[in-house]
Amino acid sequence: MYDFVIIGGGILGLSTAYHLLQERPGARLVLIDKEQRLAYHQTGHNSGVIHAGVYYTPGSVKAKLCKEGAERTVRFCEEHGIKYERCGKLIIATDAEESARLKGLEERVIANGLDYENISAGRLREIEPNVAGEAAMLVHATGIVNYTDICIAMADVIRESGGEIRLGTALTGINESDSEIVVETDKGELTARTLVVCAGLQGDRIAMMAGIGIDFRVLPFRGEYYQVAASRGELVKHLIYPVPDPSLPFLGVHLTRIIDGTLTVGPNAMLSLGRETYSGNYPVPSDMADMMSFPGFYKLMASFASAGLYEMRGSLSKRVYLERCRKYCPSLKLEDLQPMEAGIRAQSVSSDGKLIDDFLFLETARSLYMCNAPSPAATSALPIADEIVARALRKAN
Ligand SMILES: Cc1cc2nc3c(=O)[nH]c(=O)nc-3n(C[C@H](O)[C@H](O)[C@H](O)COP(=O)(O)OP(=O)(O)OC[C@H]3O[C@@H](n4cnc5c(N)ncnc54)[C@H](O)[C@@H]3O)c2cc1C
Repeated sequence: MYDFVIIGGGILGLSTAYHLLQERPGARLVLIDKEQRLAYHQTGHNSGVIHAGVYYTPGSVKAKLCKEGAERTVRFCEEHGIKYERCGKLIIATDAEESARLKGLEERVIANGLDYENISAGRLREIEPNVAGEAAMLVHATGIVNYTDICIAMADVIRESGGEIRLGTALTGINESDSEIVVETDKGELTARTLVVCAGLQGDRIAMMAGIGIDFRVLPFRGEYYQVAASRGELVKHLIYPVPDPSLPFLGVHLTRIIDGTLTVGPNAMLSLGRETYSGNYPVPSDMADMMSFPGFYKLMASFASAGLYEMRGSLSKRVYLERCRKYCPSLKLEDLQPMEAGIRAQSVSSDGKLIDDFLFLETARSLYMCNAPSPAATSALPIADEIVARALRKAN
């Protein structure tokens, strides 16, 4: 019998296992993932940004966990020799309206306790000669890392601490009784005292598998990127972000430097017709059926109809997308934008059609399900895992 079975070899499952073994050295723990390698889904398909925590409501759990998560991510990288860079983020206002919104954002940045600098148009030209804007804010703490590297380092520590990791093993059933929880997989049964599920894009299905009644579904949103041609890789030194548009649910086109030296533009936010369709946006019948049978889907589509059309136009036309990028980086050309694999976000949506913004935990007597962990959950993974572990240990005691 295991003390803990953890589902999910993304950054949340691994952070949880890592932290559990620190809190309970010697515990019998196994982490399973259906894929053959770690970080196969969201964690290995994200922008690699260590977010500083600019946008979140001051005092909120998200704001607190992001700031703490960024600091702890950097510390983890230093302790484990993982490459990262604190390159800073420039939020660019391109007209008077955006400048006014940037001012509003400044109040939030101050309230969130972040170190920042207001940048004039002249100074912007000096520090980023290829970027156009009439004002900007430089947030120093924002950085970049490859979250897959962090996952691999965590997995090493988990194994060294006596934990097991079984890849290529899919959870297929959950049966809970007063004394134990039986976890069925395609490679046989495991019994445990406590189960923790961090299954990202499959989170709602696994909660239902356990017989939990839920009033939300995970809807998949593609984040499509272009890779900027290597010859233009030195175009920017910082991460370049727009001032957030309150009418759009996601951040909008941005230029992100990747720790391996490439430069990307994106991601956008397009409804995905499949939950795990990285090679193209083709329909997967079971995923479509789940989406179409969920009333919240239609309500969400109705409330974000114009944002959806905006994203679709940019997704279908490279030229339209280029124009959006050129607003910030006028020298970009069509041939600079080269194809790159998309990521797919797991976004939980309530039955009344609202995007669920907060982390969402569901629990039974012996199990815990992380059912919504949107960005910046990679940044915040270590403190989120503290919360998961605190809850899991209450069950184990
Ligand atoms: C395009 C994009 C850009 C992003 N950019 C950033 C960013 O720059 N910074 C940031 O902080 N956050 C970012 N995020 C968010 C961040 O990547 C996610 O919040 C985070 O990776 C979630 O981690 P996770 O472990 O919950 O999920 P995942 O990484 O998706 O892991 C879930 C795991 O569960 C496994 N699983 C599912 N079902 C089963 C089953 N039945 N049996 C066994 N295993 C199963 C899956 O195989 C998977 O490995 C981005 C996300 C996307 C998609």
